[in-house]
Amino acid sequence: MLSYRHSFHAGNFADVLKHTVATSILDYMLKKEKAFFYLDTHAGCGAYALNSPEALKTQEFNNGIVPLWGRKDLPAPVARYMEQVVEFNAQSQLHYYPGSPSIAVQMLRPIDRLSLFELHPNEFINMSKNFSGNRKIQMSKSDGLKGLIANMPPVERRGFMLIDPSYEIKTEYQSVVETLIQAVKRFATGTYALWYPVVNRATINKMEKALIASGIKNIQLFELGIRSDSEQIGMTSSGMIVINPPWTLNKEMQESLPFLAELLGEDDQGFYRIETLVSE
Ligand code: SAM
Repeated sequence: MLSYRHSFHAGNFADVLKHTVATSILDYMLKKEKAFFYLDTHAGCGAYALNSPEALKTQEFNNGIVPLWGRKDLPAPVARYMEQVVEFNAQSQLHYYPGSPSIAVQMLRPIDRLSLFELHPNEFINMSKNFSGNRKIQMSKSDGLKGLIANMPPVERRGFMLIDPSYEIKTEYQSVVETLIQAVKRFATGTYALWYPVVNRATINKMEKALIASGIKNIQLFELGIRSDSEQIGMTSSGMIVINPPWTLNKEMQESLPFLAELLGEDDQGFYRIETLVSE
């Protein structure tokens, strides 16, 4: 039984990192004329009202998108992400937060293709309503990890695959690695971005080690933390592990993450990591 709802967390510091990285990757993919494929294994419903009871209950957006909104001094990659959030809000005020599929839908061209997976029945219904009538989007109410493997390689032979699990099931930390191994075997040149939360650092260290030992080449890690690692319950940091990142991504994150760590960090504890886990 899935209980995670992204509406409690939309626009938090983890979304800022995840969607800044995703926007940078999409931007790069769009530089070439050739069509590409975007796949979201855990799409969510795609649109979140920040005045919903769920969002207001946690108010996580107050330490994420809110401090960025309206600032004129954002690093260029963060500003580009912010353009997507602004576009999603028809008015000049921040009322809504776009999920990952909405950012992709806004950015992609008619020649590009999207495939969205969402397993939760209600979230799937909401997603279907939010993207109904858009014929370049294929939506599936099924397991996104299985869907990822089944869709590799895409006919376009160019692809960006976002893997954004809720990690409700402990084995997901292991199954994402196993899935990536299978997917990369089928489509070695695709760009894959895996989001992870730091709730327990040892779990993430284990996942990183498994990826390093997997034989997959060209893996970089980008992490943004708002508090030092802790034994207490709760997410203190989160990251994106990117396989075959665009060559521009590392520099863009060098530009962005120190700024975000300083702005969003609590009690001067903000930090970031930019690391090459496996070279090309
Ligand atoms: N990617 C979204 C974004 O950035 O806006 C947020 C996704 S949220 C972190 C994770 C979603 O995955 C939830 O809506 C949950 O219902 C869904 N989910 C959980 N397990 C899944 C699975 N095995 N396959 C597809 N979706 C799943």
